[in-house]
Amino acid sequence: MKITGTVINYYFHCKRQCYLFANKINLEDNSEDVRIGRVLHEIKSKDGKNTEIKYEDMVVDKVTSKYVEEYKKSDSDTEAAKMQLLFYLKNLRDKGIYKKGRLIYNEKNNKESKKSEIVELNDKDIEKLNNCIKEIEILINRNTVPDVEKENKCKKCAYYEYCYI
Ligand code: SF4
Repeated sequence: MKITGTVINYYFHCKRQCYLFANKINLEDNSEDVRIGRVLHEIKSKDGKNTEIKYEDMVVDKVTSKYVEEYKKSDSDTEAAKMQLLFYLKNLRDKGIYKKGRLIYNEKNNKESKKSEIVELNDKDIEKLNNCIKEIEILINRNTVPDVEKENKCKKCAYYEYCYI
């Protein structure tokens, strides 16, 4: 399987989620959060406001003259969001396109609670991403599913029922 930004995000969020998603056990249709995201995306598309850019295997939310922007509904897992964006920046750099990243946390789509963070790719990040891509390849080719992590993050996860019921 081709490693995508979503797979990178899930790897940092939860190894089990990464494994399940990469092995096409996709329960995201059951997730309220994912459904809300999809509806908002469709509304933006109908209004002509959808700025999503597809490039090879990458789907990034927006590209400006300076930044690759990634929008998240909450800042509940900043590391996973940051590594996903760094992965996009690295892929673009590999093609000779040098950009900074901007993570925008849009709590409940409320403009007043919008927070953002600038993300810049450095050599350490590239090394970390290269190592994690190797680790993901090993992880997703295992014959056994990683254990349930039993943390607060599980409550909002699309795989909650799969893991707990
Ligand atoms: S419910 Fe928890 S353990 Fe299961 S995939 Fe989601 S985050 Fe991971």
